Amino acid sequence: MTTPRTQLIHHRYEPPAGFSAPQPGVHKASTVFFSSVEALRSIRWKDRSAYTYGLHGTPTTYTLEERLCTLEGGRYCVLTPSGLSAITLVFLAMLRTGDEVLLPWNTYSPAVAFAQQELLRWGITHQFYDPLRPEDLAQRIRASTRLVWIEAAGSVTLEFPDLPALVRICLDAGVRCALDDTWSAGQAYAPFDLLPGTTPALGVDIALSALTKYHSGGGDILMGSLITVDADLHERLSLCHMRLGLGVGANDVEAVLRGLPTLAVRYAAQDEAARTLAVWCQSRPEFAQVLHPALPGSPGHAHWLALCHGNGSRAGRAAGLFAVVFRADIPQASVDAFCNALQYFRIGYSWGGPVSLVMPYDLPPERRQSSPHLASGCLVRFAIGFEDVADLQADLSRALGQCLQPR
Ligand SMILES: *Cc1c(COP(=O)(O)O)cnc(C)c1O
Repeated sequence: MTTPRTQLIHHRYEPPAGFSAPQPGVHKASTVFFSSVEALRSIRWKDRSAYTYGLHGTPTTYTLEERLCTLEGGRYCVLTPSGLSAITLVFLAMLRTGDEVLLPWNTYSPAVAFAQQELLRWGITHQFYDPLRPEDLAQRIRASTRLVWIEAAGSVTLEFPDLPALVRICLDAGVRCALDDTWSAGQAYAPFDLLPGTTPALGVDIALSALTKYHSGGGDILMGSLITVDADLHERLSLCHMRLGLGVGANDVEAVLRGLPTLAVRYAAQDEAARTLAVWCQSRPEFAQVLHPALPGSPGHAHWLALCHGNGSRAGRAAGLFAVVFRADIPQASVDAFCNALQYFRIGYSWGGPVSLVMPYDLPPERRQSSPHLASGCLVRFAIGFEDVADLQADLSRALGQCLQPR
């Protein structure tokens, strides 16, 4: 069977007669013409038998949706204007007053803010669970639990959960689960087939990606996707999507389509560079801890190994991201000076683009309390770009020497 990597490049596409080229065409529309009033009255946009309006999809958005389904192993896709709007769409489509959503404590923090600042206003509550202890999730599910949120790996601190165990708990409890798999980008694991060889396949209900990161790969596009295999669930998401008026621009879709054929090689290159640097950081006396799921000793490493490296079926990939915790005696001011002194690592959010990034994080005290595995000390996350890894290591080394006194 052809792998998604190859399929993405040799994907079904009908070019205009006599014009065959590497990239699909770009079609733009708000208005779409109907051939007659009868055609207008008989259309059914939901099953895609006809185009009706820009917000309901164009040949260009359909092409990207189909390729993302191929990539993730799902059947249906909804595109949103950012990763965050994909998250909030799931909440809005799935929850009503009186419902509860369970969030891991390492959830992407803007999603937490949405739960705390918006969902609560509509009487939708949330609880946090420990993603490293499936039994904690199981204990917290109750009658009002309507949705379980999962991230693999978790944001910033990159704990890797026992994903199949968490999904199995949701399945047994009859609760829907949504996975933010931005970190995997369809490369490290398959969200709808977590234990290859099991029938029926064990998978999440919704796989969410911020296409902003790896898929676009340029640091210049914002977009999100929601992939499902269940037709009813897809309809729920796409109706809410339509009613909220969420659309994506054709030029942005084109940029993501252009990024897809190189996704696997970019992911692998950044993975290798990040691991080289993470291992080097482990040897440096300034750091109390290096957080990267592929490093032995990192929280959830065994789960990463089982899911992403398991039974030889996967390449053992990880995103090009890691975090460090500085020694507790190193003050924030020195850490800030270190970030400022870096030349190639630019200070900025996000990842998956060509430029390496550094970001200091102040974790909220509650999150520190729920994470006894985290060393105390200032936390900094690195996202590795496409620079030569030797230049990046020299940059880190120079900035450390300049800003921190060796013990
Ligand atoms: C970046 C990110 C998002 C949000 O994506 P945007 O396109 O920036 O809104 C969501 N989840 C995770 C895990 C992310 O890293």
